Amino acid sequence: MIPEYVTERTMICRSCPICDNVNEICNASLYLNPKTNDVEVYPKKGYIKGCGCHLKWKIANPMSKCPAGKWLEYVKKSET
Ligand code: SF4
Repeated sequence: MIPEYVTERTMICRSCPICDNVNEICNASLYLNPKTNDVEVYPKKGYIKGCGCHLKWKIANPMSKCPAGKWLEYVKKSET
């Protein structure tokens, strides 16, 4: 059975603007503003760089974290 957090994280990553859905990678060539979901190709204040991780493995690891903090909401929700 797939843990609930894997399903949640997968849905979040698939809708993330810097997710390379074809190769299932968090795109390390792009920068994301987590508040606005705007994407840039160069470093910019308030933007985070994609981690470059293969999401299949990253998502399944309960200790891993989204560099943009997008999984945080799920963690908070599941702890309540
Ligand atoms: S790990 Fe975070 S930044 Fe990377 S694709 Fe998933 S939601 Fe986006």
